Amino acid sequence: MTAADTPELVADGRGLRRVYQMGRTELCALDGVDFRAARGEFVAIVGPSGSGKSTLMALLGCLDRPTEGSLSICGRDVAKLDDRARARIRNRALGFVFQSFQLIPRMSALDNVQVPLIYGRNPGAAERAREALDSVGLGDRVDHLPNEMSGGERQRVAIARAIVQRPPLLLADEPTGNLDTRTGDEILELLERLVADGVTMVMVTHDMDVAARAHRTVHLRDGRVEREVLQRVEEPA
Ligand code: ADP
Repeated sequence: MTAADTPELVADGRGLRRVYQMGRTELCALDGVDFRAARGEFVAIVGPSGSGKSTLMALLGCLDRPTEGSLSICGRDVAKLDDRARARIRNRALGFVFQSFQLIPRMSALDNVQVPLIYGRNPGAAERAREALDSVGLGDRVDHLPNEMSGGERQRVAIARAIVQRPPLLLADEPTGNLDTRTGDEILELLERLVADGVTMVMVTHDMDVAARAHRTVHLRDGRVEREVLQRVEEPA
């Protein structure tokens, strides 16, 4: 599935609850959250520590399942899927970008970007990985190891890995958190370019300047949506 044949609502979560059982007590990390993201929309999730941001991202990323509520990702109901089916969706429909890049240290940039392609049949994997690296401006760094690259370059490799399957939905967790302001800005511009091309991006951030660049900001508090702020009037692509 690519951005082009994705339904209008890429993520559609309703009444999402996630309750953790801690011995005899229950901890409600998400308490009835409605969350939607349209095709080509950039949504920032903000909120104090413990407000449920990671829990919501884990649900959107099909790493976890809600205790209650419905969740569809790219038109697929994922709330009740088993591990295998969710792994398939993660691989095909989702791209992940992390604060700490999460590259495999002993692998070249090219091999890191090929990691999502090792599942299933992927003819021309090296070529596709090369194209992805080219698209993030690293066509001349394919053989470099992560420790031979700057933070910004590492994050570009991670973005190339996230987009190599052309997923409709990108989930980014503080993607500029480990970068200086200028480099962070370049990474944001790169991510914004992907959004302009029709990718949907959901980003957790503590940085309100970063959140201000999203189309919409969802403020979480105590597992609930405290408020939503629409930043841009233009329609998402
Ligand atoms: P945030 O990402 O906004 O800091 P989290 O989603 O990590 O918030 O956490 C929301 C609440 O759920 C917190 O009170 C946290 O302690 C709790 N929580 C998160 N993960 C677990 C877990 N695996 N087991 C028990 N409680 C958890």
